[in-house]
Amino acid sequence: MFHKVAIIGGGAAAATLVSELLERRTPRPLHLDWYCGAPGAGRGVAYGTPSERHLLNVRAASMGMFVSKPGGFLEYAQALDPTVKGSDFLPRRMYGDFLQSRVTQAVKNAPSLGHDVNVLPFPADSLVPSADGVTIGYGDETSQADAAVLAIGSLPPRPLPGVEDAAIASGRYVTDPWPFLASAEDDDRPLRVLVIGLGLTAVDVLLELSSRWPNAHFDALSRHGKLPEPHLSAASAPNDDGGELIESMRDDPNLRVWLRRLRDAAAQAEDWRTVVDGMRPHTQSLWRELPAKERARFLRHARWAWERARHRMPPQVAARVAALEAEGRLHRGRGRMRSVHLTPQGKLDVASAVPGGNETIAGYDIVIQTVGLNTDTQRTEHRLIRQLVLGGLVTPDPQGLGLAALPDGHLLDGAGKPRANLFAIGSLLRGALWESTAIPEIRKQAQGVANMLLAEKPERVAAR
Ligand SMILES: Cc1cc2nc3c(=O)[nH]c(=O)nc-3n(C[C@H](O)[C@H](O)[C@H](O)COP(=O)(O)OP(=O)(O)OC[C@H]3O[C@@H](n4cnc5c(N)ncnc54)[C@H](O)[C@@H]3O)c2cc1C
Repeated sequence: MFHKVAIIGGGAAAATLVSELLERRTPRPLHLDWYCGAPGAGRGVAYGTPSERHLLNVRAASMGMFVSKPGGFLEYAQALDPTVKGSDFLPRRMYGDFLQSRVTQAVKNAPSLGHDVNVLPFPADSLVPSADGVTIGYGDETSQADAAVLAIGSLPPRPLPGVEDAAIASGRYVTDPWPFLASAEDDDRPLRVLVIGLGLTAVDVLLELSSRWPNAHFDALSRHGKLPEPHLSAASAPNDDGGELIESMRDDPNLRVWLRRLRDAAAQAEDWRTVVDGMRPHTQSLWRELPAKERARFLRHARWAWERARHRMPPQVAARVAALEAEGRLHRGRGRMRSVHLTPQGKLDVASAVPGGNETIAGYDIVIQTVGLNTDTQRTEHRLIRQLVLGGLVTPDPQGLGLAALPDGHLLDGAGKPRANLFAIGSLLRGALWESTAIPEIRKQAQGVANMLLAEKPERVAAR
């Protein structure tokens, strides 16, 4: 067992792991240092939104924090409102309240189980792992632990290529939508807004700003111009024939074959969503069986289609977006942004083109970038990740999907060997697992890492 453990991160993943560890009885006391980045941790990016318009995209019944209690969130929500159903999509703000209440309770109860917790409301800036433990640097201080876990979510977004520095400096080009939304005020001017990217974050931006800015007009640009698919109003069971489909995919780990098999299964299913949902328990192992060349092909050609089928909008959100389009306030377009230029009048001129087509230029008051999670650890300003990568202490995932790791969360050192005392959970494991960002996966990872940290005889790790 590792006696002194450092947990780094301030979102759902860290809150889940901290709670998972503190709620266990251990043969010897556990000392936990939780570097949570800022006061009031536990919500992170997704559940820090105060807006009631921002809904969970997973049904309440599946959002429990612990593997041992998958219905925990539903119980919490029903205690507040008995009319809540397991199939409801509830506000993310409520989920943030749930996470915070659970982790606060776990920290408070820790001494009664003999544990000692230190909640440090600062970011960890550096980590130096050695055979004896890990040295954590924060501000001017350092501290020692026997093991550390990175639960830092995805990395801060970087501006897309082609955006002029002056456009960014003007504040009219928004690289990170979340702080922008948190401070956006009501405005009745007829603003012209461009959203680049059309995933769930774009949808959140559109819902929030169209309501705060009632006279604004929105254009949304993405490679294919398509929104995420909607969930059905009622939950449906995953496809019964999933086993046969998965076996046939395992037999031939080739992207083209897999896509054909998936299309065939979807065509035969009553609803294609049952096929996608039936894959969920197998996605991580299928990903690991896919050769690197095929993974790269998936990322280039099929990722966008998979993401819009897998990460779906609640039906009421889909209806609101459709209404915006019907009112003529939202226009979706296909194409790639080529450049963003700040004009002398203080507006943004955006050049875009569809592949093989002519470039068109349109003027906007605000441009908001919503292009999905950034997990590229080789090109990031994130201080801790830069220090680890530049120091050769970890290995970046070659496809830009976090850090190289074993499927159980052990990070690999600069030479590609697993480190016995350095782990990650969440988005940093996308390269190892692909499906690694949502709560159902995170709670499983938290349980697995807690088991390894508390094991009486830590397993000898070897590259698998
Ligand atoms: C808009 C949005 C909606 C989503 N909705 C759902 C949903 O409905 N259901 C679902 O299952 N999943 C959803 N997800 C997926 C979501 O990523 C996970 O559910 C979960 O929030 C991930 O938590 P995390 O702790 O890994 O990351 P984050 O929420 O990103 O939290 C990481 C935290 O660590 C902090 N941090 C970073 N570096 C350091 C450091 N050096 N030291 C200390 N702290 C640091 C960050 O500031 C941040 O607060 C959503 C994601 C987004 C972005």
